[in-house]
Amino acid sequence: MTLTPNDPRLLTPGPLTTSHETKEAMLHDWGSRDQAFIDTTARVRQKLLEIANATETHVCVPLQGSGTFVVEAALCTLIPRDGKALILINGAYGKRMTKILDYVNRAYIIQETLEDTPPDIAALEAALKADSAITHVLIIHCETTSGILNPIREVADVVKAHGRSFIIDAMSAFGAVPLDASEVHFDAMMASSNKCLEGVPGIGFAIIREETLKTCEGNAHSLSLDLYDQWVAMEATAQWRFTPPIHVIVAFDKAIEQFEAEGGVAARGARYGENCRILIDGMAELGFETLLSHNLQAPIIVTFKMPADPAFDFQVFYDRVKNAGYVLYPGKLTVAPSFRIGCIGHLGNDDIRAALKVMQGILKDMGVSNGAPAEAT
Ligand SMILES: *Cc1c(COP(=O)(O)O)cnc(C)c1O
Repeated sequence: MTLTPNDPRLLTPGPLTTSHETKEAMLHDWGSRDQAFIDTTARVRQKLLEIANATETHVCVPLQGSGTFVVEAALCTLIPRDGKALILINGAYGKRMTKILDYVNRAYIIQETLEDTPPDIAALEAALKADSAITHVLIIHCETTSGILNPIREVADVVKAHGRSFIIDAMSAFGAVPLDASEVHFDAMMASSNKCLEGVPGIGFAIIREETLKTCEGNAHSLSLDLYDQWVAMEATAQWRFTPPIHVIVAFDKAIEQFEAEGGVAARGARYGENCRILIDGMAELGFETLLSHNLQAPIIVTFKMPADPAFDFQVFYDRVKNAGYVLYPGKLTVAPSFRIGCIGHLGNDDIRAALKVMQGILKDMGVSNGAPAEAT
């Protein structure tokens, strides 16, 4: 790992710790209409398609902004104004999709399960059978709220069998958890520069089935979020419609180069998986329990139940861990009081071990002898 000295280590779900080379790539200026930058954009788009094994079927449309921008853009570009979505929700990002569809005035229904519970496939199948008005099914691959890995393949098979369009928010998992377009049938998936691909924040991208995108002219309610228009313009000129976040894209190109050198999805997934295992085992030694059982846990971010020990105060713990150089992530869950620790970003197994050691010392100082949560009632 090539860490920048004295920067905090981000144990969050993104933006993440990036390598020194990735940050260094930004120390220049480029013309946005110059060939060097045009080539960089083309290379990034092509590599992203390759990561999804989608070069034959899909196109990559990048968009300025945080991840939510491209989620909103994809939903309003793909779902026609008379369409109807079924959203599978088990956390905050699924809920955010309802908010987006409220803003853009698309009809939807939801199927919601608790944050520690995968979607109900039988209920999905029943809804698709019962309601022929449903045109699109939306899901989150790894719901970052809890860290749960949703069963994307099973859901895709059901959606395909019923002839509906499938859209995946793969933001927090893409690049570390396999998502192969030849195995999982989807019309669009969205992710961003600053999660498992370890770039800096500033662009999202959608990988969209070309045949589908061709039919999407005029769907979007917004010029800047119209991925059809963004795609057509990019194909025609190889340039961005509006000012691109050039430094972000150049850094992303550099990050993808390192991703490939590491060994792609398999190697990145293995590093994060090992980070996750070391973290969970180390916290278990201190008495902490995870919200999710092992089979539901994605190697992205881990939710720990709040300790019952009255000596534990999360804010104090957070501040002291931060002062020691590691940034944790507060919880946003409704099922249980909790906090989260990410295991992604440009951090290796030794960084996780070092963080555990720091946390162990701080807990001892705080007089917390055991991190066990209150008994479930
Ligand atoms: C990070 C993330 C997003 C995008 O969040 P932004 O803050 O807009 O970048 C969307 N969905 C999921 C599942 C995420 O983890």
